[in-house]
Amino acid sequence: MDPEEIEIERLMKSYKRIMSLIPNNSNRITMEDKRVIRAELHEIKMRATLMIGVTKELRHRACKVEVQARNNLVQRTTTIARNYASVVKSNQEERSAPLPSRNEQATQPAKEKPKLFKVRVEGKEAGMTPEQVSTMLTTRIDPTKSKIAVKGMIRTKKGVIVNCETQKDSETLTTLIQDRMGECLHGSEVKGGLPRIVLKKVDRNLDKDVLLERIVTCNEDIGKELGGNEAFKMSLKERYRVGGRGSNPYVDVIYEVKAATRKLMVGKRISLGWSGVEVLDHFSLLQCYRCWNIGHRSVDCKSKEPVCGYCAEEGHRNTECRNKGVVRCALCINMNKTRRDKFDTRHDVRDAECGAYTSMWRSQRSRIDYGD
Ligand SMILES: [Zn+2]
Ligand SMILES: [Zn+2]
Ligand SMILES: [Zn+2]
Repeated sequence: MDPEEIEIERLMKSYKRIMSLIPNNSNRITMEDKRVIRAELHEIKMRATLMIGVTKELRHRACKVEVQARNNLVQRTTTIARNYASVVKSNQEERSAPLPSRNEQATQPAKEKPKLFKVRVEGKEAGMTPEQVSTMLTTRIDPTKSKIAVKGMIRTKKGVIVNCETQKDSETLTTLIQDRMGECLHGSEVKGGLPRIVLKKVDRNLDKDVLLERIVTCNEDIGKELGGNEAFKMSLKERYRVGGRGSNPYVDVIYEVKAATRKLMVGKRISLGWSGVEVLDHFSLLQCYRCWNIGHRSVDCKSKEPVCGYCAEEGHRNTECRNKGVVRCALCINMNKTRRDKFDTRHDVRDAECGAYTSMWRSQRSRIDYGD
């Protein structure tokens, strides 16, 4: 909930409370005074609501400026060019998919669709339908005239997403929308997710802050390329750690990084003072071992019952499965239901050939912004 929404709620509470305390039948307050109290109270409520609205608007503007500043920083520091193919190649060396059988996928050259540059277009007024947004956009802008290569349009809940061929196309379209229909439509480029890297075999005793400090101070050459140690630090966000249990003194630490930082670190050994560690690309798709859906771990699973990985039935696990011969994939069934896909469901959910898993793997992978 926004801080502003909380404020509004509090305000409404006080307003109702005071209103309810004004006696309807009393000789102590005259009718006229009652009317004035109610009117003034109403005025206070209106003013406060307005102020909260202004605060919200300002907060959003400040956020936008911050994001813009950050994007500029990334653009300025992207000095080494690297094409998509070489990114894919370097990722093939990484073998940390969540399930051993999935490793095969990491070694297959990803034959995904070429990267598209997306522009999200939405109406500025609350009640605008996607149809209205789409009509307004298509009647006011002619891609051929404006020389924008559009590869298609997808309808969303609030508007449309326009797929453009190049970044220049998506930039031109965004500017055109702002110039011609800025008062009723809002266009913004959809940025991909940030890439992840893994620092292999790090001393497990180094905690988050100490490790980050160590990386930055021991590798000032990287910091210099990125515009200083502070910028370097800001571009690294520790996401999670793997390993380091029992007698294993090492952990693999996974960071979310900016494209420019990734380029300067991946494939190198970086110094941590007395020791050095290897940095690799990291890409994995989280799959729940309990319900087999994508995007959460089994410890965070919200399904009431476990789902069988073999027959897709609810209420038992693979080890307890008695449905020999009726192999069905819970993930493919679910995706067919929710996204109207048409995946073949006759396989074990852990099968490397699982259509739904492969499709999600590719699409999430293609959404990452490698900055090329
Ligand atoms: Zn789950
Ligand atoms: Zn079963
Ligand atoms: Zn499947």
